[in-house]
Amino acid sequence: MAGASVKVAVRVRPFNSREIGKESKCIIQMSGNTTTIINPKVPKENKSFNFDYSYWSHTSPEDINYASQEQVYRDIGEEMLLHAFEGYNVCIFAYGQTGAGKSYTMMGKQEKDQQGIIPLLCEDLFTKINDSNNDNSMSYSVEVSYMEIYCERVRDLLNPKNKGNLRVREHPLLGPYVEDLSKLAVTSYNDIQDLMDSGNKARTVAATNMNETSSRSHAVFNIIFTQKRHDSETDNTSEKVQADSTGAKGTRLKEGANINKSLTTLGKVISALAEVNKKKKKVESFIPYRDSVLTWLLRENLGGNSRTAMVAALSPADINYDETLSTLRYADRAK
Ligand code: ADP
Repeated sequence: MAGASVKVAVRVRPFNSREIGKESKCIIQMSGNTTTIINPKVPKENKSFNFDYSYWSHTSPEDINYASQEQVYRDIGEEMLLHAFEGYNVCIFAYGQTGAGKSYTMMGKQEKDQQGIIPLLCEDLFTKINDSNNDNSMSYSVEVSYMEIYCERVRDLLNPKNKGNLRVREHPLLGPYVEDLSKLAVTSYNDIQDLMDSGNKARTVAATNMNETSSRSHAVFNIIFTQKRHDSETDNTSEKVQADSTGAKGTRLKEGANINKSLTTLGKVISALAEVNKKKKKVESFIPYRDSVLTWLLRENLGGNSRTAMVAALSPADINYDETLSTLRYADRAK
């Protein structure tokens, strides 16, 4: 586990039309790995944080710290994909206020240079698999599942007819899992894209039906990647690696009455794991995975034999100061 702490990136999106309409000021500054937030009411009061990566997204690539979708994937996604090939469980998640850029970072848009981490990672995954097809000693399989967790209930986004609340169970060897969740075999990046598109549609419908849904729901896209090495002398097949990669989308952290259990617990789990790493303790028994469905299901992806990366998505605007500061604090605790 040495050096296995969470990789943390922050990414500020461009102003949106609402912010421009209100003539919002930019309260985020980035320089190297340092991100500074200025209190718009008390401009002398600013707070600085250091993260592994600080990404700016203004329109011009000449801007300091500017990062394209490709750059974000190269820094974060590619490394996690290599870890998956090495046999680690991998988890990449985005966190931040609604509209701050989580979907853009994880999924992106259809246009070629607008694709996010998940499509780029899937594309690379199949390129790597196809490149090693000459190697007869290895065989690979890829399956995906896509779920939404809302108010501690799990819904299958690849089978939206299944509107029910799926049961979360625990396998004695493989750990927590969702009973009856569709797990579909895919053989190309296009297969994944089609499934992701239909899953996203299933989400959007829910979000427009219920206003608050988007700020409390978490989407988890799972890639179950299996590598098998065939021993040529004995012709035995041994299961060498099972790895999966998760795109979990977290959202708004609201202190107070309607606290979001999954997010609060995710924060606690990530900081507890960071402590374990710093102190190089082996014991993970006090990590509160069980306190929410999201963390329970991600247990194998967050702790133990795993590598985790987080992108905290930020608005640049003064009107979002409180939310942006709490996102930065959340990200800071994950290091
Ligand atoms: P969230 O998923 O956090 O609710 P979105 O990803 O949907 O937010 O982002 C809100 C809007 O801002 C979208 O229209 C998206 O395309 C745009 N956006 C977000 N991040 C960026 C970015 N880094 N560069 C350009 N546009 C962005």
